[in-house]
Amino acid sequence: MSADCFDPNDGMQLTPVSEVLKRLKLRTSTTIGSESLPLDYQMMGRVLAQPIIAQRAHPPHANAAVDGFGFAASTTDQPQFYRLVDGRAAAGSPFKGSIPSGFAVRVLTGATIPKGVDTVVRDEDARKTRRGIEIEKAESRGANVRKVGEDISDGELAVAAGRRLTAADLALAAAVGEFRVDVRQSLRVATLSTGNELIQTGSVARPDQIYDANRPLLLSLITAFGFDPIDLGCIPDDRAALREALDSASKQAHVILTSGGASSGDEDHVGAILESTNRVHDWRIAIKPGRPLILGEWCGVPVFGLPGNPVAAMVCTLVFALPAMKVLSGQTWSEPQGFDIPAAFEKRKRGGRREYLRARIRNGKVEAFQSEGSGRISGLSWAEGLVELSDVAQNIRVGDRVRYIPFSSFGLTS
Ligand code: AMP
Ligand code: MG
Repeated sequence: MSADCFDPNDGMQLTPVSEVLKRLKLRTSTTIGSESLPLDYQMMGRVLAQPIIAQRAHPPHANAAVDGFGFAASTTDQPQFYRLVDGRAAAGSPFKGSIPSGFAVRVLTGATIPKGVDTVVRDEDARKTRRGIEIEKAESRGANVRKVGEDISDGELAVAAGRRLTAADLALAAAVGEFRVDVRQSLRVATLSTGNELIQTGSVARPDQIYDANRPLLLSLITAFGFDPIDLGCIPDDRAALREALDSASKQAHVILTSGGASSGDEDHVGAILESTNRVHDWRIAIKPGRPLILGEWCGVPVFGLPGNPVAAMVCTLVFALPAMKVLSGQTWSEPQGFDIPAAFEKRKRGGRREYLRARIRNGKVEAFQSEGSGRISGLSWAEGLVELSDVAQNIRVGDRVRYIPFSSFGLTS
């Protein structure tokens, strides 16, 4: 493939990240079901299956934006005097009559604009006398009046399908008169760790064993993305056990994240058994950290065979698994928003592959974690985002602008 590049170190053809993302986008689609539920705060974070169309305009009636006095504006810009009618217009208590020309009425914020009124003057811009109100500087017609539908009109699209509902979306949906929403069922994401060296948190570890860090990592990420995690535990480096675990995962989940054993070594059984199904889509990807990463399928269920190193596992989850899982969950494909900011670090990098550094912003510059070791979990915990260095970048000097993607762009709050 012409877009591929060559890794001189191990003599392998590598596929650029952009190409892998393009293919992933093409072969991922939404099949998950939906349900109709009452609109309440528990819908926050759910994915909208059908658009929310305004059932009524917002605002539904012209109303006062301030506390003051309402009248029909004069055509001159001379100081004005209006006599006051008895009564007032308040939010939820409209003024029943019509206001004759030359008269004004007391209006409070949110009140329906009475008949005969097109303009409101703020309390602080009017002087109340015994006879009425005086206005030094005439208001232009329509001042301080919120027009019908100026926010959104009846029948207009309020929230598009595919959106993961925010607090503000729910406020908008309520304002336009919606009371039920069609939302997607939750995406179930199974995760399992592989490796004979792994031991569960809470057990006593032998010196040759390591605690499974990827499970808490992946289960928390899945939860933060709004998906339902299914914890399938630690599986030894054994093909029969792995097959059984993948069979079980594919029966329960819409997508499977494995970690470890994704390379092509003697104990890399995830790679071997996925390859034996002929359902591996992408394997040798030009990314650091992140090799080896396998994108494949097991019994028709997408599998992200993540690397065992926690740093690589997290980067690959954010870069590849997240956009695909968003689509599977009913959301639209989106890549994270980043921005360019001067680097506080220096770095030499090989061309021909994309690199991600654990990073954070301090004093207007982006710092990179001092070590690039892919096993350094402390750097993940230190970081607040990633620096993305393009395939072509090679020499980064202090002050050069680099692309920083905060973790919040991946939907993570911390
Ligand atoms: P692998 O991808 O299986 O070759 O693993 C690469 C490195 O990541 C090895 O040093 C593993 O011990 C380590 N590793 C694999 N899985 C985990 C895990 N779940 N938690 C922490 N480290 C892991
Ligand atoms: Mg392993």
